[in-house]
Amino acid sequence: MSRHVTILAAAALAAALAGEAAPPKEAKASQADRIFVNGRVWTGEPRRAPVEALAVRGTRVLAVGTSAEIRRHAVKGTDVVDLKGRLLVPGFIDGHLHLLGGSLSLEELRLDDAFTFGALSGRIRDWATAHPDARWVTGGGWAYAAFPGGLPSRAQLDAIVAERPAWLVSYDGHTGWANSTALRLAGVTRETQDPPGGAIVRDEKGEPAGALKESAMDLVERLVPKLLPHEKERVLKNGIAQAAAWGLTGVHQAGIDAEELELLRSALEAVPRLRVYVALDMDRDPTPESLARQEELRRRFSGDRLRVGAVKGYVDGVVEAKTAAMFEPYPGGGTGLPNWTQEELDRAVAAYDKAGWQVMLHAIGDRGIDMALTAFERAARANGTSGRRHRVEHIEVPRPADLPRFKADGVVASTQAMFPYPNQNHLGVYVPTLGPERARRALAFKAIDDAGAVQSFGSDWPVFTAEVVRGIACAVTRTTVEGTPPGGWEPSQRLSVEAALRHFTRDAAFAEHAEEEKGTLAVGKLADFAVLSQDLLAIPPERIKDTKVLLTVLGGQDTWRAKEF
Ligand SMILES: [Zn+2]
Repeated sequence: MSRHVTILAAAALAAALAGEAAPPKEAKASQADRIFVNGRVWTGEPRRAPVEALAVRGTRVLAVGTSAEIRRHAVKGTDVVDLKGRLLVPGFIDGHLHLLGGSLSLEELRLDDAFTFGALSGRIRDWATAHPDARWVTGGGWAYAAFPGGLPSRAQLDAIVAERPAWLVSYDGHTGWANSTALRLAGVTRETQDPPGGAIVRDEKGEPAGALKESAMDLVERLVPKLLPHEKERVLKNGIAQAAAWGLTGVHQAGIDAEELELLRSALEAVPRLRVYVALDMDRDPTPESLARQEELRRRFSGDRLRVGAVKGYVDGVVEAKTAAMFEPYPGGGTGLPNWTQEELDRAVAAYDKAGWQVMLHAIGDRGIDMALTAFERAARANGTSGRRHRVEHIEVPRPADLPRFKADGVVASTQAMFPYPNQNHLGVYVPTLGPERARRALAFKAIDDAGAVQSFGSDWPVFTAEVVRGIACAVTRTTVEGTPPGGWEPSQRLSVEAALRHFTRDAAFAEHAEEEKGTLAVGKLADFAVLSQDLLAIPPERIKDTKVLLTVLGGQDTWRAKEF
């Protein structure tokens, strides 16, 4: 309550300073602009049972309570919304996505869920035919499971597209698939050396086979025609509108450069339907000059709609490409490709930690995760800092013994709710690539919770859809939308609906240092929330996936309203 009073007092003071008469205290301060009654409101506040109704004044929550209590805040002109028993939840916050890539995935050639070569080639051929003027055939989303051995070849792509260069990126963004024309244009031959942190996959004769891993992707990627800035902005605006329609009021952008940040700013000005927390691309070797440049961006982008607060780097790669850094070898050999030595990582992390940055480190393999946690621990010790809320992103295959380090170090566990989605790629490539011992401890959301870590959920859009109810459904059931495998994959790691909701709201807000402002519905917090078609807390888990978002409200204003609501 005190918080609410403080905000209203500040508003009155601001009004007085602006030369307006301060409103009579008791009368107006309790008047709502909008009330939402006759629903079930899951506030996300600890130890608070669901309530029925909520009142909004300006951009903030004025009150929560029973419908009768909330109706007392209504006056002439108050907008009254009858929830008709529907569930109202805090606005979803996606703790890890890539807005431009995700937005692009809504319109480019997509190969998601094509698990056979026949399905893939059909889609590629259709797209190439429909876009005769495209100089390149490009897109993404293919799954390793579509190829015998887990990796595609240029010969396969040549058979579909030969004259034009073709370049298709895997669903996780860590492997590229080129045809012979693309490799020739890029000058990639048997003589080309693997770049640091990357690999050119070769056939038995030593010729480039068509798959390029990690940093080797740049060899071809740099030739692919880029979207013009105004095209990127248009794509972003569509993506922002789509995110609002999924019930998102906030997202964390996991890495961006200064130029794209500018485009994001103008897209958000045109379509003000999301709050975006931004991690800049992390410098491998930060210098006083580079830190000053990033500091300038942090100073410029510090509003509640677009806020720079973190940097993001990559410790390792991904499981399917065997680039995630592991303590023990993969079947067939190799322990992954860490992008840094521990000393290099320590140095960079300490420099950012000292300068007050939150550091987000992509780390998937057990060794990569250990490296990230070690770097955070050493930085805190060396700098005498605490409370930075550094984050490990993905945390796919942690050693169980490393989980308590998250709580002990105050490090946020940033995981992706759909990563355990048990489709053919997951069961046919991911799990066998890990081997049985590692597979059992992979994507262990329940174990992360049980270790007392703050776990923030995201999508990694475009890796998986940012449709939050799909993420909640996956975390709760660990099955596909078809309900397979029965009982779920590694069912001991299933979460309750409540836990999944918390990770997509309160914990994601904590992960961006904003839990005082949002993530739960309490008096004085931002009026960011969503109304769902079904009561997730009451329906059988297998029905969660069918939930529609009926209304999304950001700072008291509708950003999405379904026709049927
Ligand atoms: Zn990502």
